[in-house]
Amino acid sequence: MVTVALVHPGSMADEMGIVPGTELQSVNGRALEDFLDWEFLTAEDELEIEATLPGGERVVFDVERPESEPFGLELEPPSVRRCANRCEFCFVEGLPKGLRRALYIRDDDYRLSFAYGNFATLSNVKERDVARILEYRLSPLYVSVHATPWEARRVLLNNPRVPDVLAQLKSLAAGGIQFHCQMVIVPGLNDGEVLEQSLADLWQLDEAVLTVALVPVGLTQFSHLYTGETMNQMNAARILKLCEAWGEKGRRERAATWVSGSDELYLLAGRELPGPEFYGDYPQIENGVGAVTALRERVADGLARLPRLDGKRIGVVTGSAMTPLMPPLLADLGRATGATFELIPATNSLFGPTTTTAGLLVGADIQRALGARTDLDFALIPAETINENGLFLDDAPFATLRASMAMPVYPSYDFVDVLELEPSTNDVLQTAGAR
Ligand code: SF4
Repeated sequence: MVTVALVHPGSMADEMGIVPGTELQSVNGRALEDFLDWEFLTAEDELEIEATLPGGERVVFDVERPESEPFGLELEPPSVRRCANRCEFCFVEGLPKGLRRALYIRDDDYRLSFAYGNFATLSNVKERDVARILEYRLSPLYVSVHATPWEARRVLLNNPRVPDVLAQLKSLAAGGIQFHCQMVIVPGLNDGEVLEQSLADLWQLDEAVLTVALVPVGLTQFSHLYTGETMNQMNAARILKLCEAWGEKGRRERAATWVSGSDELYLLAGRELPGPEFYGDYPQIENGVGAVTALRERVADGLARLPRLDGKRIGVVTGSAMTPLMPPLLADLGRATGATFELIPATNSLFGPTTTTAGLLVGADIQRALGARTDLDFALIPAETINENGLFLDDAPFATLRASMAMPVYPSYDFVDVLELEPSTNDVLQTAGAR
């Protein structure tokens, strides 16, 4: 059974009399377990939908659905499948205590892998799930492989019952499912022969494996499980060398790079990042593969659209990972607008200085970076630091932070998104007047 959360006025669902709180039980005699069933079973033209209205009335809707007309309803979010592993490098294990509860949920859910691109290990996938993946052709899936040799994966995932991922991938691939894979590389555990073997195994799956991202292990000062080596420049350079050899093989034999190092791997190795042609459509950009190159591209494409902001002084807050890469971008923005851009690196106070990603900065870090500044016309902060409820990871509301600042503060993904809207003197005056 799935529950309706929202019905769009005037939609097909609205006309049928479906309201929020309606429980949808079955479609054409098949019970609904979750949003996937609803999505796929309602793809037919003729539908018999059993439901219970919020008052308890049982109804059966006989529906002829015109092709591609949406129902116009949204379902309650599914209960997320929890993870059966306890990875050495798990982000959740590296969180300090006292944050909001949702951050501690360790999801490992093939449904969210298909629907939202969340990575799943497939450790908790049962036969019935495999049957659903195949029936609904849930492809591509985003799979955390980490290692194909069973023993190495068992150690990495800290789970003695972890299934053989290669056998799982093979059987799904035989049913036409494709994968974007990731391997979090932990020095001493899966960076040498295990990495070689894993890439060789994934290569054998041919076109079923669309991409593989190699991501260096990231640890915070709270990562209490991990006792191994940290990633250093030599490790990163060695991993990239192997990665590039396999990427070259992919380009030669399959016209696809196939395996890529994340941006962080290049930065750790002290290497220049590849250009846009290397990343194609950026299939693993959410995983930090090509994000810097994409940012550079967006800035270059947007320069001509920017207004003149002569004489303005603009602060740009970022994490220490991006700090060395920013001066050329800010120089371009300065030339295009006439403004002076000041780079303001911030240290992560919640996770510790080893966490250098801009998107993990918290409200207190931004407060510390900008709080004493009275000389800026406005400031840009990484938009990724704020969730859909307007909160930083430390639960500080963006609205409160913004109101406490001497200058307007704008969350920005690529600078151009804010600057092209011409944050103006009016804005500065309005904000100043509001205080
Ligand atoms: S699979 Fe590993 S990294 Fe992912 S949530 Fe589970 S324990 Fe954490």
